[in-house]
Formats: sequence, structure tokens, C-alpha cells
Amino acid sequence: MNAGELTGQARTHIAEIADPKCLLHAQEVTPFLNLRRAALADGFDLLPYSSFRDFARQLKIWNGKFSGAKPMYDAAGVLLDAGALAPFERINAILLWSALPGASRHHWGTDLDLIDGRANASAYNDKLTREAFAPGGPFAPLAEWLDTHAARFGFFRPFQGVRSGVQPEPWHFSFAPIAETARRALRPEVLAEAIAGAPLLGKELVLAHLDELHGRYVAAVDLP
Ligand SMILES: [Zn+2]
Repeated sequence: MNAGELTGQARTHIAEIADPKCLLHAQEVTPFLNLRRAALADGFDLLPYSSFRDFARQLKIWNGKFSGAKPMYDAAGVLLDAGALAPFERINAILLWSALPGASRHHWGTDLDLIDGRANASAYNDKLTREAFAPGGPFAPLAEWLDTHAARFGFFRPFQGVRSGVQPEPWHFSFAPIAETARRALRPEVLAEAIAGAPLLGKELVLAHLDELHGRYVAAVDLP
């Protein structure tokens, strides 16, 4: 992947799938459809809740949280008041749950947030919560199935909260053969260049601390 593809500013690496509707790295289409077929055989309608996401979309998420227009949560999932946090605290709080624009693994097309279309999750406003995937939650059976089978198809969870600076996200899966190469290629300099030209709130502070933020939230993930 080139710098534009790594940072979500290009989509030349992305293929569009109609069923199920999603955007994936072209070389991941077959592995994902194989995983989906296996899940289907065991009774799950494995659906991408989100797949490829571009830089502009991630920038909107970031600026929304930084400005306080979008809700922001601490590690325990408690709502934070953005205005009460110093700018660098705010940056670290955002990064517990959301990536820096240019550094989202969703830019690569290798990462997916997965749910089960057959599960009854109507009681959950936000489907991507730990409760929804924990025992008793609507997606617990799928989470358990993925624990057993995902690795066989090359998929793993990069955010388990063991090595990852990002909080555990049991729904977030990554296709190892491509994602690991992308993770190593996304050097701080590549990220800095993408951010430098963008209208990112808190940009000066982010750039001043970029090596540290990169080390904690991009380089450090739970490995396959
Ligand atoms: Zn995700």
C-alpha cells in the first residue's frame, strides 16, 4: 500500500462488495467471503457493521469528539465532558476508542467491525458495545464462534487491551496477512504528512507528540 492508501486518502486498494454490502481491500474479499460462508453454515449471518472508512470520515469523528459535539467516553465507558479536559487529555481520551485520522486500521480495508444479522439486538442502541458481545449479550454466540474459527481464515482481534493502547473491541477483526504489512509501513513520518495538511482540531499538539501517540495507539496492537 502507498502512503495515500495507508492513510485513507486514496481508495485504489479497495473493492466494493454488494452482498454483504461493504468495502474491503481487494485481496481480502475472498478470505472474508470464506469466513462468512463458514459462519453461515453454523447459523450466523456475519455482517460488516463497518469496513473501509476514509480519512475525511475519520476526521469528522475526531473533530466531533474534540469539539465536544460528539460524546466521548473514558476506559470504563463513562461519558466525559470534553470541555473539562485539557487538550492533551482530550486527545488521549479520544484515542482510547477512536483512531487519529490517517491512522485508522479501517483505512486499510483490512479491518471490519462484525455483527450477526440474525441476532436480536433491538434493545441495543449502540450495537458495538462490550455488553453486546459479552456472555448473555446478543452477539456472544458469534464472538465465541469467531474465537474458535477466525484465525483459520487469517483474521484476528488487534484490540484486546493486552498490548493495544486502544480499548478492547471484541467486534473488530483484522486480516493479518495484509494488515501486519500495513501496520509496519505506517511510520510516524507517513502519518505526520497526512495530518499536517488536514483541518484537524488539536493538530499542533498531535504533531508535537506524534511519536508517542503512534507508539501507543498504532504500533502497539495485540498480534495474531
Ligand atoms: Zn473497528
